[in-house]
Amino acid sequence: MVNGPEIVRARDDLRARVDAWHADGAVVGVVPTMGALHDGHLSLVEAAKRDCDRVIVTLFVNPRQFNSASDLATYPRTEESDAAKLAPFGVDALYAPSVTEVYPAGFCTTVSVAGLTDVLCGAHRPGHFDGVATVVTKLFTQTKADRAYFGQKDYQQLQVVRRMAMDLDLEVTIVGCPTVRETDGLAMSPRNLKLTDEGRAAAPALAREMRTMALQLRRGEPLYALRGAAVERLEGAGFEKVEYLELRGAEDLELLERAVGPARLFAAAWLDGVRLIDNIEV
Ligand code: AMP
Repeated sequence: MVNGPEIVRARDDLRARVDAWHADGAVVGVVPTMGALHDGHLSLVEAAKRDCDRVIVTLFVNPRQFNSASDLATYPRTEESDAAKLAPFGVDALYAPSVTEVYPAGFCTTVSVAGLTDVLCGAHRPGHFDGVATVVTKLFTQTKADRAYFGQKDYQQLQVVRRMAMDLDLEVTIVGCPTVRETDGLAMSPRNLKLTDEGRAAAPALAREMRTMALQLRRGEPLYALRGAAVERLEGAGFEKVEYLELRGAEDLELLERAVGPARLFAAAWLDGVRLIDNIEV
């Protein structure tokens, strides 16, 4: 049996290890996660292992990025099985701090990225990206990582983190990795586990509609000609609500009507009371 990664709880413990690795000239990579690991997370770990001498996976369910108390309360916490899933990858540390280790008493600083966070999930989840930017800044300074790996599944988050690292002169290279999907096309997410059997059967319709729309957008069709019918089909398939279905510039996330230049299609939709998000390159 392969041993799991060493679990580190304290920032100072982690820093002592990273200082020793850096003294040896090692390149240190970090994969920030909230746990409930699936193959999407593990693909980031694989990418980090390819590029870096030492790899830290962080596991922290960040209360500041949840805007619903029930979503936070029901978020899966599966540390033991997460550590077991990481065992074959040769991860050097699993950093799983407590909430007070990350946010000690009196903590009152927020990192806020303007503009990019006003749209898409930012418009529908007030404060979410402040919570993300704040915790990611802390995880970067706590781990002192040279490279950090994020999934395109949360594409807006990836762009926010890139902007923040640039604006704050953080000495970390941000690496974006492709979305990993189930065989039926559904983007992997811990939230998929909250779906009923019928919901799980209906869920791939989101990615399917998006793929069809991307083909049509590539042919030059405008979004307004496609959007209404796609929303109707999703509602027909059982989705309660399509929160957004938008075409945006891949870098600045500016709203587009036609696919000119690098563009992505973004969607958030509710199914079984679960909010699913996805995005694809157009
Ligand atoms: P989370 O634990 O959901 O906050 O995600 C941690 C990291 O894994 C983030 O960078 C996500 O974008 C990434 N991630 C989540 N789901 C996927 C997926 N299906 N494919 C690739 N990366 C993912």
